[in-house]
Amino acid sequence: MSTESSAPVALVTGADKGIGLETARRLAGGGYRVFLTARSSERGQAAAAAAGGQFLELDVTSDRSVYLAADCVERAEGHLDVLVNNAGITGPVRENPRDYIASDMTEVLMTNVVGYLRVIHAFLPLLEKSDDPRIVNVSSGLGSFRCFHDRSRAGAFVGTPIYAASKAAINMMTVQFASLLPNIRINVADPGLTATDLSGGQGHSVHDGADAIIAFALAAPGGPTGTFASRDGEVPW
Ligand code: NAP
Repeated sequence: MSTESSAPVALVTGADKGIGLETARRLAGGGYRVFLTARSSERGQAAAAAAGGQFLELDVTSDRSVYLAADCVERAEGHLDVLVNNAGITGPVRENPRDYIASDMTEVLMTNVVGYLRVIHAFLPLLEKSDDPRIVNVSSGLGSFRCFHDRSRAGAFVGTPIYAASKAAINMMTVQFASLLPNIRINVADPGLTATDLSGGQGHSVHDGADAIIAFALAAPGGPTGTFASRDGEVPW
C-alpha cells in the first residue's frame, strides 16, 4: 500500500479473486490506497499482499461486518474516494425453470442488491468527505432489458432469471441514487463474460473484465454519472 498520505483511497468488495482482485490490483498500481475486502481473511490477506492493497474483512450480507469495515476506513483515512461494489453471486441455475424457489431469489438479492445498498449506506459518510466521490456498481449485461429483447443476441441473455433480476435491480438502484445524490458519481459497469469462478472459466481475461470498472473509477472530475458501460462502450438499459 502506498505511503503517500495524499493518495486517493479506494475500497473494493469481493476482491480476493476474479474481477474484484484485478480491480484492486489496478487501482493500487494507479497510486490508490486500496482497501481490498473479502469475507475470507486468509484469502483476502493473500490477495491484498499480491495486489498491493490493505485487507479488510467484509461480508456484504452482514451489518456488523460492513459497518466495522467502514469504522476501520474512517480511522485509517477519514474519507473514501472510490467505492467499487463488486461482490456477487449467481445463485442456482436450474435446468427446469419450474424448480426455482423463493429462497433462491432471497439468497441472490441479499448479496447482489441488499448487500450493495448496505455497503453504500455504510460508506456514504466517508464518500461525502471526498472532493471527488465515485461509486462503481458492478452489474451485468444480463440485467439489461434491451439486451434481453435483442434477437440478434440469440438467447445469450436467457436462462438466469434470478441473477439477471438482481442485476436489473442494481441498474435501477444506480440511476435512482445518481439522481438523488448529484454530488457523487454513481455508475454501472458491465465486465462482460469474464473467465472467473462465477462464469465457470468462460470469457475474456480479468484485465478485460475490469476495464469498465477502472474507467469509471478513474474518470476525471465532471465525468459521467447514472450511466451503464462495458469496455466496448455504453450498454443499453
Ligand atoms: P468471482 O470470481 O466468483 O468473485 C466473486 C467475489 O464476490 C468473490 O470475492 C466472493 O467472495 C465475493 N462474494 C460473494 N459473496 C460475498 C459476500 N456475501 N460478501 C463479500 N464478498 C462476497 O466472480 P467475478 O466474476 O469476479 O464477479 C465479480 C462481479 O462481476 C460480480 O458482481 C458479478 O456478478 C459480475 N460479473 C461477472 C461476470 C463474469 O462473466 N465473470 C460478468 C458480468 C458481471 P468468496 O471468495 O468469499 O466467495
